Amino acid sequence: MKKSDYPSERSYNMSRIRGKNSKPEETVRNYLYHHGFRYRKNYSSLPGSPDVYLPKYKTAIFVNGCFWHVHDCGKFVMPKANQEFWQTKFNRNVTRDEKNIEELTSMGIKVIVIWECGLESEVKEETLKELVELIVDESDDMKLREMYLYCDWDD
Ligand SMILES: [Zn+2]
Repeated sequence: MKKSDYPSERSYNMSRIRGKNSKPEETVRNYLYHHGFRYRKNYSSLPGSPDVYLPKYKTAIFVNGCFWHVHDCGKFVMPKANQEFWQTKFNRNVTRDEKNIEELTSMGIKVIVIWECGLESEVKEETLKELVELIVDESDDMKLREMYLYCDWDD
């Protein structure tokens, strides 16, 4: 297959993923900032360059797009064309995410993953409130695992 047969990642991303919520990680940063949290963004000194890192709470936050990070939420749809190409790419993304989270938790850093679907307008407030609770929870148990914030709240 010629290289030009592959869809451009950027245009695919823009057309499929972006849309009403143009920058989910900005939504998260703004909310935290307005609630008095101070953070570094795209903190490259840590594995995976977390979108947000709060030194005071030793907490790293990733804002994951449901498509690129293969979220089992209905927003992820396997493209019909070039499946082998996409499958390889998705596997790589998932493996990298897992490795980064493992390294961070082994450093005693709390890891919170926010899925993009959790930032849609109907659930955004709830997600962000929950996020703040997770950040300030200092029980040891919290540091040893990663936490995910989704759009379905049926637990
Ligand atoms: Zn999702």
